[in-house]
Amino acid sequence: MIVLKFGGSSVANAERIRQVADIVSNKPEQKLVVVSALKGVTDALKELVQESIQEIPTQKIIDLKQRHEDLANELNCSNTELGNYFEETFSYLQKICLGINALGESTERVEALVMGLGEKLSSRIIHSFFQVEGLNFNYADSEQLIVANGTFLVASLDEEKTYSNINSSIDKSTNYIAPGFIASNHDAKPVTLGRGGSDYSAAIYAGALNAERLEIWSDVDGMLNANPMIVKQAKMIQNLSYEEAFELSYFGAKVLYPPTIRPLVASNIPLELKNTFSPQKEGTRIDTSESFDENPVKGVTALSNVGLLNISGIGMANQKGYAKRVFESLERVGISVILITQCCSEHSICVGIEQQVLDLAIAGLSSEFEFEISRGLLNPVETDSDYSIIALIGDKMINRIGLSGKVFSVLGENGINIKAIAQGASERNISVVINKTNEHKAINVLHEAFFTENTKKIHLYIAGKGNVGTAFFGMIQ
Ligand code: ASP
Ligand code: MG
Repeated sequence: MIVLKFGGSSVANAERIRQVADIVSNKPEQKLVVVSALKGVTDALKELVQESIQEIPTQKIIDLKQRHEDLANELNCSNTELGNYFEETFSYLQKICLGINALGESTERVEALVMGLGEKLSSRIIHSFFQVEGLNFNYADSEQLIVANGTFLVASLDEEKTYSNINSSIDKSTNYIAPGFIASNHDAKPVTLGRGGSDYSAAIYAGALNAERLEIWSDVDGMLNANPMIVKQAKMIQNLSYEEAFELSYFGAKVLYPPTIRPLVASNIPLELKNTFSPQKEGTRIDTSESFDENPVKGVTALSNVGLLNISGIGMANQKGYAKRVFESLERVGISVILITQCCSEHSICVGIEQQVLDLAIAGLSSEFEFEISRGLLNPVETDSDYSIIALIGDKMINRIGLSGKVFSVLGENGINIKAIAQGASERNISVVINKTNEHKAINVLHEAFFTENTKKIHLYIAGKGNVGTAFFGMIQ
């Protein structure tokens, strides 16, 4: 069995859904197809919840209903069952909005429930269309099968329950269509797996069913070695290891939702990233096979809006437990640490976190170290914001001499100051912290240094060829 996932832009309208049916029907294997909501619908639903606090967005609900009905009509797949489903869903949605409005507030639980409607609608339309096209598919109800707990909007998978649910209800000798993104918790309340979570849903099905492979179909050719919005010469990556793909997806390469990799690694399930608009293109393959690429660096990427915390003081030198207390106090206030550096003099610890939680972090750290700070053993916690982390990623960077040297000299030559550096012992990721204003420049110069030919054509115009000009020409010669 194979699992295929189609993202929002791949199911945006009738024409694209027909393309999806084409792709699916050309696969000889048994398949489970996971779909996202129609393009833009998750955002629209989220907005409905927010707007309802002030005013009931009746017209927007009507428009959203119309969009789904029009699509079903255009695909010639509307029938009584689907019609009733639209009626029920949208009158339920209208009631929820009334409720939010009456209370003047919403909760994450309500938001998760409403946002998940997008996938329920799209999957039912596509299921009905597949039937009309003679494609024999059953419906797998992800809300029943996938169990996830914790927060409503980014719930964490209960793998044991989910895998057992999936294995006991999916028959591998037939085909299924399933909504992505949605699940329910132990109390049977609807939850979502986080924005972009349909990728993860597909990987969960693939992991549970030990699928031959997972194909994720979107509107891009695959993973690129840099963000194409920043680097014009960004190139497609043909193959990646799971770790490289995870690192790249974590840092800005929005093609893949990072948790997707986890269920695949456990059973060595290959992942292919493909483009619905050019299905003939090879795409990016992610698996355990040895990379045939000579270049040890696979990609250069960035994480923006990073804040730095600096915990320093003579009281820290040679003392045990400071780092532990730093991390514990950040954990207590719910902050996840992105990057850590500590020099061997142990005089300071520098921690990178999301910039918007800096105040929360200072509060947590200041109360933890109140005693030490009041005695002058520690300096008051320093913070700084508007940084970016630039990372160079590649499994084969390990034991290659000179790579970090090249990073530093390239940045230095271009006048970019490095604020902090981190490299794990796996050497799969070299990260440097720089001012956010230099982010695009840094990515471009590093991309150029690691991925393009060494010669560059420039056009030079010199005005006034006197003594200096003549000498200069001589030097160029
Ligand atoms: N529809 C959800 C979102 O927009 C999930 C997904 O498409 O992956 O985040
Ligand atoms: Mg996505």
